[in-house]
Amino acid sequence: MTHLRRLALLLLLLASFSAIAAAQQESTLRSVTYHLKMSRPVSHLFEVAIEVELGNHATARSIDFQMPKWSPGRYAVFDFAKNVQEVSARLACPAGLDCTLANPAVRRVDDQTWRVDLPHSTLPEKQLTLFFSYKVFGNDLSGTFSQLDSRHANFNGGSIFMYVVNHKPDPVKLLIDPPAGWRVVNGRMDKSDQREWQFPNYDVMIDTPTEIAPDWTDNEFQVDGKRYHVVVHSFGDEGGKRANLVRDIEKIVRAETAMWGPPEFDSYTFLIHFAADDHSGDGMEHLTSTQIIEPGALGEEGVYGSTLDTVAHEFFHVWNVKRLRPLELGPWDFTRPLSTRGLWIAEGITNYYGHMMRRRAGLWDDTALLRRESQTITGIENSPGSHLMSAEDSSLSASFLDDAPHAQQTNLDNSSISYYPKGELIGLVLDLMIRGKTNGKTSLDDVMRRMYEEFYLKSPNASYYLRGRGYTTEDFERVASEVSGLDLYGFFKLYVRDVTILPYDEALGFVGLSLVREQARQPFNAGIGIDWQEKGSLTIGVVHPNSPAEDAGLQENDEIISLGKKNISRENFLVSLARYKQGDRVPITVKRDRKTIQTTLQLGAPERLEYRIDERKDATPQQKALRAAWLNGS
Ligand SMILES: [Zn+2]
Ligand SMILES: [Zn+2]
Repeated sequence: MTHLRRLALLLLLLASFSAIAAAQQESTLRSVTYHLKMSRPVSHLFEVAIEVELGNHATARSIDFQMPKWSPGRYAVFDFAKNVQEVSARLACPAGLDCTLANPAVRRVDDQTWRVDLPHSTLPEKQLTLFFSYKVFGNDLSGTFSQLDSRHANFNGGSIFMYVVNHKPDPVKLLIDPPAGWRVVNGRMDKSDQREWQFPNYDVMIDTPTEIAPDWTDNEFQVDGKRYHVVVHSFGDEGGKRANLVRDIEKIVRAETAMWGPPEFDSYTFLIHFAADDHSGDGMEHLTSTQIIEPGALGEEGVYGSTLDTVAHEFFHVWNVKRLRPLELGPWDFTRPLSTRGLWIAEGITNYYGHMMRRRAGLWDDTALLRRESQTITGIENSPGSHLMSAEDSSLSASFLDDAPHAQQTNLDNSSISYYPKGELIGLVLDLMIRGKTNGKTSLDDVMRRMYEEFYLKSPNASYYLRGRGYTTEDFERVASEVSGLDLYGFFKLYVRDVTILPYDEALGFVGLSLVREQARQPFNAGIGIDWQEKGSLTIGVVHPNSPAEDAGLQENDEIISLGKKNISRENFLVSLARYKQGDRVPITVKRDRKTIQTTLQLGAPERLEYRIDERKDATPQQKALRAAWLNGS
C-alpha cells in the first residue's frame, strides 16, 4: 500500500467517523411516554405501549427497544424478555395532518432487542409519532418481578418496561390506566388518585415500584418534616398488630435518621405486602420507597419481627446503596450482568446496621442483638465456602448467588459465601476495631457519614442518573483509614480480599465482650445436608467436602432409604440418626436413579462450632462505656 493511498483511506475513515457522530447527535426524540393498561387481570398480562415522538430520530431509519436482562438490587440475570409477547408498532400522523401511514416492520434482533424500521418520510420536520406495543406476563409477587391478578397489579418497572436504546437518559412520562375501582400508589405521589408521572430518566422510572389495587391502606407519620407512608396490602389476618407496626417503623426511621441526618426526599413510602402464601418474600430498596413482601400474615408468629428486620435493612439503603453507591451501581448497563467488588459494603454493612438499628430504636435489647450477631458468626464460620471465597469474590459472584436460577448443577453450597452475612461481620469487626483503637473518638458511623458526604452530597453528578459519583472499595479503604487515623491496608487485605478468619476476639475485647466457641450439640459429624424443600422423599441436598458422607461415596440427590436396619423417612430421620455416636459404622441404603446402593457411613468427630458473644466478667468501666456508646450510637 502506498503512502498516498493510506492517506486517502485515512481521510475516508475520518469522514465516515464524523458522519456516524453526526447521526448520533441528530438522534433526538421529542418525547417518550409509557402507557400501561391491565384490562384482563386474570391473564397476568400487562399491556404496555411506548409512544415516541420521533423528532430527528427518523433520519436514523430504525429505532431499537430493549428489555433489561436484570434489574437493580438483585443481580442475577433473569432475562425479562422471555415474558414479552405480541409486539407491534404503528405510526401516527402529525396533529392536524391527514395522511395514511403503513405500519412499520418490527424485527427481533437479539434475545432482548426489537427493531422498528422507519419509513422514508417527506412529512414536515419528521413529526411522526411511533407507538411500540407489547404485552408482558407477570405473576410473581417480588421485589424484582411483577404480578397482575384478580387482586392487584404490583410492578417493578425493570421487568415490564423496555427502554429506547441510546435514549435511557431521556426524560420519560408514565400514564397508568387502572381497572375500574383500583387505586394507584407508589413512592412518588404528588396527589391522591394520581395516574400520570414525569421522570427525569428511565432509570428513575423503574426505581418506582407501584401497587394498583382496590383495597390497600395507608398510614402516615412525620419525622424531621418528612412525610412517611406505610402502605399495606394484606392477604391474611393482621391480628390487630397494624398500629404497633407503624409505630415501630417510625422508631426505626428516627434511629436511622439520627445517624445519617435528615434524608433528602420530602416523602417516602414503605410498600408492604403480607402475602399469606408461604413462599413470596422479599425486600427491595429504592430512592423514595421500598417494596417489602412477607410470606406470612401479619397476625402470625414471627411475621411482625421479620417485617421490622426488613424495614430496618431497606430504610438504611436510602443512604447506603441508593445514594452512596459503588461505582457500578447507576447508571446501569442492562445488556450484561453487573460486576462490582462493593456489595459487601452496600449489602453487608447495611445488614450490620439493620440489626444495630433495631437495638438503637429500642426494639431489641442488648441480648437480642448479640444473639443475632452470634448466629451470623456461627453461620459464616461453619460454612465451607468461607475458606474459599472472600468478601470481594462474593460481591463479584452476585449474579450467581442472590436468587439466581441454575439449570446446571453447581457446588455453590460448598464453594461460596454470601456478601450479606460476611459483609455484616466485616462491618461489626471494623466498627469495634475503630472504636477501640481510637478510644471511642471515631466509629464506622463516622466513616459512613464521610463517604456519604464525599461521594454523594459534595460530589458533582458524574452521569445523567443521579447526584454524586460511585466509589471503589479502594475509596472506602482510604476514607476508613483517613477518618480513623488507622492504617487499614492490612485489614482489607486479610479480611476483605482474602479469606482469613476475622479477628473477633480482639474486636469484641475492646467493648468488654468475648466470643465463646462451643461444640454444637450434635454427637458426631456425618457431612450430609438434607434438602428439606424436596417434598415427599428424604433427599441429600449437599455432601460436605472431605466428610464421612463423601468417604462413603454418597452424593447429592441420593434418596435415603434406610439407616442400620431401619427404614427412614423425612419424619424419623433426625430421631434415628440421634441414636448413633461418633465412630459408629452405620449401614446406609440410598436410591440413586434406578439403582439401590448400600454403603457404610462412619460417623466422624463433631465439627460444627456454636459461637456465642458473652459479656466478660472482667470488663473495665472504660470498655463498658465504649460498649454503651456503640450500642446507643453515640
Ligand atoms: Zn398488592
Ligand atoms: Zn439490601
